[in-house]
Amino acid sequence: MSRSILPDLKTLEVWFVTGSQNLYGEEILAQVAEQSAEIARALEASTDIPVTVLWKPVLKDSESIRRMALEVNALDSVIGVVAWMHTFSPAKMWITGLDLLRKPLLHLHTQATVELPWSEIDMDFMNLNQAAHGDREFGYIQTRLGVARKTVVGHVSNPEVTTRVGTWTRAAAGWAATHQLKLARFGDNMRFVAVTEGDKTEAELQFGVQVNTWGVNELVEAVDAASESDVDALVAEYEELYEVAPELLAGAERRDSLRYGARIELGLRSFLEAGGFSAFTTSFEDLGGLRQLPGLAVQRLMADGYGFGAEGDWKTAVLVRAAKVMGSGLPGGASLMEDYTYNLVPGEELILGAHMLEVCPTLTTLRPRLEVHPLGIGGREDPVRLVFDADAGPGIVVALSDLRDRFRLVVNVVEVVDLPHPLPNLPVARAVWRPEPDFATSAAAWLTAGAAHHTVMSTAVGLEVFEDFAEIAKNELVVIDRNTNLREFARELRWNQAYYRLAKGL
Ligand code: MN
Repeated sequence: MSRSILPDLKTLEVWFVTGSQNLYGEEILAQVAEQSAEIARALEASTDIPVTVLWKPVLKDSESIRRMALEVNALDSVIGVVAWMHTFSPAKMWITGLDLLRKPLLHLHTQATVELPWSEIDMDFMNLNQAAHGDREFGYIQTRLGVARKTVVGHVSNPEVTTRVGTWTRAAAGWAATHQLKLARFGDNMRFVAVTEGDKTEAELQFGVQVNTWGVNELVEAVDAASESDVDALVAEYEELYEVAPELLAGAERRDSLRYGARIELGLRSFLEAGGFSAFTTSFEDLGGLRQLPGLAVQRLMADGYGFGAEGDWKTAVLVRAAKVMGSGLPGGASLMEDYTYNLVPGEELILGAHMLEVCPTLTTLRPRLEVHPLGIGGREDPVRLVFDADAGPGIVVALSDLRDRFRLVVNVVEVVDLPHPLPNLPVARAVWRPEPDFATSAAAWLTAGAAHHTVMSTAVGLEVFEDFAEIAKNELVVIDRNTNLREFARELRWNQAYYRLAKGL
């Protein structure tokens, strides 16, 4: 049974707005309306775009543009605006509206038709098909006002165009999700750890997330309140879905560990549902009356779309939730990940990522094993957990650091690989990857950027969606990919240091 808390992206709308002016007269404006509706229909019909694209009547003056911005701001279902200037729309008409607009903006620089009808072009054609300069006027005012936006260029019949628009709609959905995100922390951060700390007040302003803490014993009450019959049903579900270790089967010696694991899931889920939370953190140093560190429960909740961070790491929990929503409906998954240990054989360098327990099974298409093993940390009973290898394929890891005056996102493009050797003695889920551009450059850049050891790993979405998300948030994002050069990377960090301080005053 599906308990997914991912939104149906088709229920979210982006409005397609076209700018023009009354100067053109009714005949041309009717053509503008007709052709812009066609562009909107083509976007709506594209399977690259997961949200609903809604055409809106052509905007011809400041007042209608202002009203559009106010309407968009007021509607939760509208996550962004795609704008196109088919004809020339004098951009002072856009100043008030753009200044008011609080939702993501995409500037689509397109044209009604692909090929110029060379032998037929007359001044009527020229008057109608003016995006080449109409959109330049619009670009100018957006830049002058400092409006964050994505600019996509090309005809909508080009899949590269619809893919880029679709990626932006996913980032806009992520942005909407972080603004609805209530995050529950059970206990505080792991003691003495620096990078998992952060300014929760600033994060609410920057990303819209509400981060608050509950005493873990409130969770324990919910865990204890779960009924035996619900535990029975959930354990039966586990047996259907996973390769359950013999010692956890009915009548076997560790059966009670599995039943208690199910109880944690029931309690955690009911607590999160009751509070409207879509992300949470736990802390192995603060388990109160919990008999196990939550492992299986956390893995399954992540698979249902919850954000999660271990050791009180709420910033990574935000990233996991955002990545889940942005990748909704795509193959692959997203999980809390931790750079754990390395293979340093020259030429064969690899990163082995895992966590104590909590890696999300959306990273595998195979049937996970459900096992119980001792856990040296936390001082509780042996926790149950899902064990599997992440699927090979392209991915990214993304970290969020608090640099005092701002948050920094760091993305590394990676290739998850098949395990070069089996890991029969490793009792946790894991992923093994090769980072771009190479191990030494990636790790040195990561360390230089002050990026965290906790990340979200996504195999569903790539770099561009996080670039779009960062642009929407006006948040720093640095990329480690095949083009990364350490000297330039260090310089970019230095320039960013100055830019993001200055940009606050811009
Ligand atoms: Mn950790």
